[in-house]
Amino acid sequence: MLEAPMAGENALSPASPSLPLPWLAAPLRDALATQRTHALLLHGPQGVGQFEMALTLAQAWLCESTASVAGDTPRPCGVCASCRLVHARSHPDLMVLVPEALRSALGWNADDAGEEGGSGAVDATGKRKPSKDIRVAEVRRILAFAHTTAAREHGKVVLIYPAEAMNTIAANGLLKILEEPTGKLRFVLAGSSADALLPTIRSRCQSLWIGVPDAEVASAWLSAQGVSRPEVLLAAAGGQPQEALHWFRDGIDAQALLSLPKQLARGEAANLPNWPLARVVDLMFKVCHDAMRLAVGVAPRYFPPEAMRGCADIATDIAPLGAWYRELGRIARHAEHPWQTALTIESLVLQAKTPLGSNSSSASSSRSIN
Ligand SMILES: [Zn+2]
Repeated sequence: MLEAPMAGENALSPASPSLPLPWLAAPLRDALATQRTHALLLHGPQGVGQFEMALTLAQAWLCESTASVAGDTPRPCGVCASCRLVHARSHPDLMVLVPEALRSALGWNADDAGEEGGSGAVDATGKRKPSKDIRVAEVRRILAFAHTTAAREHGKVVLIYPAEAMNTIAANGLLKILEEPTGKLRFVLAGSSADALLPTIRSRCQSLWIGVPDAEVASAWLSAQGVSRPEVLLAAAGGQPQEALHWFRDGIDAQALLSLPKQLARGEAANLPNWPLARVVDLMFKVCHDAMRLAVGVAPRYFPPEAMRGCADIATDIAPLGAWYRELGRIARHAEHPWQTALTIESLVLQAKTPLGSNSSSASSSRSIN
């Protein structure tokens, strides 16, 4: 079992020079201040920075700044030898387990992970697809890591993200290691589906929830990334700033989002075929959700009222929206299916026209939405 956190371990301030995302200051401070076991489980919605939070927490645990121990400097300091090794993805006392499919997006390549050559599925062209799972062979590497002597002074850390990517065999392998912690080995598990983890793993971890950040803080961060009208993307992404940034980088800007509901009501696909199918389905879900809210007199959640105007004369018959919602669910359940994307999107747009556009002839004189 680990010793109690050292004095000053909770000294991180919002001005930490090493904080990758501004809204993580408070959860990081909480994690350092309340940590009482050798394993933490960070969970919350996707797109709020669980991986960055887990990595910063690991960095804080490994930080060697003497000033930070004295409580004078935010932790992690970002400049000590240990912090620099974490930044360089080469800290010898930090093991990061992420699925092969996520490594490059997270800046954690195969060499960093120290393992390769797994058995991901093969696609139609015979090419091996990167695995989306964390497999038992990778979890077993923790055992070897646990039994090596720490190279530096602050123990060792294993980071697993997303924790729900472990299959049952891998999770059982981890459970055995969690049950018998070795030396100064700490764990940080992070993900968005804590319920998908084995209850026995959850019960051995101290749980810390990371919710969606304050909209103002998240919008300012998006704006600093070059996103114009960030509040529109942020709302459409359910308040999840990293998700909003992914959309923006995929060519989905505020104007495209604002015109989407009316475009669907007219049965037009416009630039939808250029977007990933899963994202199109997600956005259609949100248009449908907002249309349902309007149909029962509730303000929309994901799109501003002016964007939904014209889709708001849905009258009182919610049944066509329900049918569209179910069809979107069917497509979403088979997101991995090799659909003909353009044809699938065309079909979904046609299905959207009926519930959204049945009264669109009167859209120009539609009633105001409050
Ligand atoms: Zn440091």
